[in-house]
Amino acid sequence: MRNAEPSRRIAILREDVSRKIAAGEVIDRPLSIVRELLDNSLDAGAGSVEVHLEAGGLGRVRIVDDGAGMDREDLGRSWLPHATSKIETEEDLLRVTSLGFRGEALSSMATASRLEIVSCRPGGVAHRLVVRGGKQELLEPCEGRPGTVVDVSELFFNYPARKKFLRSPSAEAGLCRSVFLDRASAFPGVSFRLFADGALRLSLPATDPVQRLSLCHDLDPRLLGTAEARGQGFTVRLIAASPDGRRTDRRLVQVFVNNRRVQEYSLVQAVEFGFQGFLPGGYHPVAFVFVDIDPSLVDFNIHPAKKEVRFRTLPEVHRAVVSATRAFLVGRAAVVLPRDLPSESLGPVTRQDALPFPSDRRSSPPAAIYSLPDHPPAVLPSADASIRYLGQAFGVFLVCELSDRLLLLDQHAAHERLIFERLRQQSPVVQDLLFPLAFDASADEDARLGERSAGLAEMGIVVHRSGARTWEVTGLAAGLAPLPADGLVEALRQACGRESEWRDAVLRTAACRLALKEGDPVDAVTAVELARNALELDPPRCPHGRPLWHEISRERLYQLVDRPVPR
Ligand code: ADP
Ligand code: MG
Repeated sequence: MRNAEPSRRIAILREDVSRKIAAGEVIDRPLSIVRELLDNSLDAGAGSVEVHLEAGGLGRVRIVDDGAGMDREDLGRSWLPHATSKIETEEDLLRVTSLGFRGEALSSMATASRLEIVSCRPGGVAHRLVVRGGKQELLEPCEGRPGTVVDVSELFFNYPARKKFLRSPSAEAGLCRSVFLDRASAFPGVSFRLFADGALRLSLPATDPVQRLSLCHDLDPRLLGTAEARGQGFTVRLIAASPDGRRTDRRLVQVFVNNRRVQEYSLVQAVEFGFQGFLPGGYHPVAFVFVDIDPSLVDFNIHPAKKEVRFRTLPEVHRAVVSATRAFLVGRAAVVLPRDLPSESLGPVTRQDALPFPSDRRSSPPAAIYSLPDHPPAVLPSADASIRYLGQAFGVFLVCELSDRLLLLDQHAAHERLIFERLRQQSPVVQDLLFPLAFDASADEDARLGERSAGLAEMGIVVHRSGARTWEVTGLAAGLAPLPADGLVEALRQACGRESEWRDAVLRTAACRLALKEGDPVDAVTAVELARNALELDPPRCPHGRPLWHEISRERLYQLVDRPVPR
């Protein structure tokens, strides 16, 4: 037995102590000050906001807005715990459209720092408020323009231990900058300026959403496009870069719900899923998802910084994101970009991953690899309540409950077959490769490729002889573009096989290399999509002939444990 501590009596924390603890949760570093003050300025209807940081916000954060301002009475109350003008009753939580509503940001800053606010309503008198460590020091008339200036300094002067958790000024400044960009991305109609130690670092004039994102993230606006999808009570707006704008990390797959940036991994996956088949393995798209949803369908009141959100209807939103992504990609194929387009800022261009380039030889829109309906894109497939995804087993099996049986679906085999069918059915849109892919052929292969190059071109693989037994791939179907170079060459070698089978052999190899692998994570909505589509296949076998799933009936399961089968 462990040695128990001598038991102590339970005491109720003094209010000033509990206030300090709570304040330290809301305001944990300069970034949270910037976030909360930006939210307040945006909630006040500001058309222009300036953020000034000193020493990465550790020295001072000052935010100047031209919003509605506060009169003396409101200013005097604004810093009190639970002071908010945004909601009154609990039911109002179902209707909040403002960024803030908890009434704890200013009071937390007032507790954990020195807070100074100068605020003025249009046509009114400006007042200055100073609160330090929870004590009001001043509230008096002063000079000031309509709007509000909030100045937060001496952060954590009364929290000796807290300072240890803060990082260097430059690291804190970086965090402040990212939250600044999050808000700027969602409010393109508001002008934003960021100053660090007196120098203007970012100036974002009011503009449209595409221009704003291109400025925020240094993206070529010519690569960006938009698409929309709607569902019950929500709209999904996607602003994304064509597949050329891909990156090697996920930082620019961002999700905003009612203008708040949220960490919602399943919607990030929805975007990636939509792009699947358009990007090589290991690459991620550039895509910003803006979900506008009826506030009663989401709950933001689960995280003090509102970074998390709970959806009532996540599967529908997920579907809409996939649909919007597909719609976006279908539209993209028609865009012809100039050949000298700079792409350095958008991610690496390597020879190995030859970039597809839209060409004039466009015949029909590319079919998405995976089989969600593309047309009309704004119509969502209806949810299928009869398939319930339970989880992934051994990194391979998607376990689904159907009304009368349990389905164990091989994720790779099922996906591979679906891709194979799609590749077989589509009339390929061939795109020129920016960098032809060269490969060597044996004498046999050389001869075969010569005979079959016309057939290959019909399938969407354009090859040319470039020397003695050397060949080049110069054009590819959009659906094949994501193949890594070795996968493509491997598929091409299949073109040198037996006369009757070579076409299927090429597509089989391509599908195998494009499909989900063992161990790849699969989110619930994707799993249900896969299962639904796989169940329609006849025969249910992968291109190599293996079964796609194993199923156990409900009856059989009951029998296995000697249980009477309920009727
Ligand atoms: P919340 O935003 O959750 O209501 P805060 O503590 O952030 O709580 O702010 C308290 C109140 O102070 C707000 O509800 C608002 O009425 C007022 N306020 C704060 N900042 C501003 C501002 N920049 N302009 C106008 N009013 C503001
Ligand atoms: Mg607020």
